[in-house]
Amino acid sequence: MLEQKVNEIFGDAEPTGFGTGWWSGVLSAFFGLLAFGAVICLHFPNVLSTPELRPYYSLPVIRMLIQAVIAGAIVFGVISAMLRRKKVLALTGMSFSLAATLLGGSSVPINGELTNGPAIGLDWFLLDMLLVTLIFSPIEVLWPAYPKQSVFRSEWLNDIVYFLSTHLPIQLTSFLILLPATQLTAILNLSSVTGQITRLPWLVQFFLAVLVADLAEYWIHRALHMVPWLWRFHAIHHSSKALDWIAGSRAHIVDDLLIRGLMLIPMMFAFSQDIIVAYLLFVTIHATWAHTNFGPSIKWLEPYLIFPRFHHWHHTSQKESIDKNFAIHFPWIDKLFGTYYYPEDRWPDTYGLHNQPIPAGFWGQTFYPFTRTKAR
Ligand SMILES: [Zn+2]
Ligand SMILES: [Zn+2]
Repeated sequence: MLEQKVNEIFGDAEPTGFGTGWWSGVLSAFFGLLAFGAVICLHFPNVLSTPELRPYYSLPVIRMLIQAVIAGAIVFGVISAMLRRKKVLALTGMSFSLAATLLGGSSVPINGELTNGPAIGLDWFLLDMLLVTLIFSPIEVLWPAYPKQSVFRSEWLNDIVYFLSTHLPIQLTSFLILLPATQLTAILNLSSVTGQITRLPWLVQFFLAVLVADLAEYWIHRALHMVPWLWRFHAIHHSSKALDWIAGSRAHIVDDLLIRGLMLIPMMFAFSQDIIVAYLLFVTIHATWAHTNFGPSIKWLEPYLIFPRFHHWHHTSQKESIDKNFAIHFPWIDKLFGTYYYPEDRWPDTYGLHNQPIPAGFWGQTFYPFTRTKAR
């Protein structure tokens, strides 16, 4: 398997704590790959950058970011090479950043007219990867709920492939997600409802949006668990045997499109576009956070807002919490509908599915719902 190969090439038996050159090596390789990908995007912006995102970019900031990741790859590479006997991580990071520099680095000019045609969202993948890694990886390393769980736990590469699979075709996935809502709003004009809501203060509108979205998400999510043929798609998301932020990316494309597409229908009828965009940013961060291997919580806030421990109980394979905790923002929605399970201070012992034959790789999992094998 590819993951085993990667682990063999980059891993070794030496300790991986701070000061061993492990983390600096990982960071060097990560930044090197980001820098190389970003410079390639600058060379082929028509093919590798998302037309819908370009208006939001500030090119000077992007160029500064590229410089920073090139420098980061080299500095961390040097540190790792000095501290660790096996140099392969450091060399990988430094080689990619050297290649990025030789290809023009951050100063590659954008030549010619940019078109709005079909493109691969490599820019979106690299930016989002950098953003979520910077937010979530440090808190998982510093304050884990399961300290023994490695960042490179089993099946980590599979979940990176899932992250890639939703980011690269971003034009197609966002079109499909918006399709049901845009079609329905075109037929049914409910602008009077939106008009009333836009008069409320921004924060109230935002809170209402989160509430409407979570109520919709609750029932779609519950249906994904209860309807056998829908469960076959959603079972992929539940096949992770350990949770961290990247495990949250594991979802069958049909599951992803159904939840997001159907949830947007009530949203589009009630809220303005800027509230919906703000909500989409919020849900990306909150839903990812709910999967993190992050221990601390704020006790008094736990009954009102979802902390990782609540969603972790949704992912357990322990009988007492099967088909519980469907909400993604407000735990009391589950209380309201009788599906709440939140034992004090405890985390689950086991995760994943019981006696399920779900294949291990991305393609096997993608085709799995269309085969005849039973899910559970
Ligand atoms: Zn679920
Ligand atoms: Zn989940």
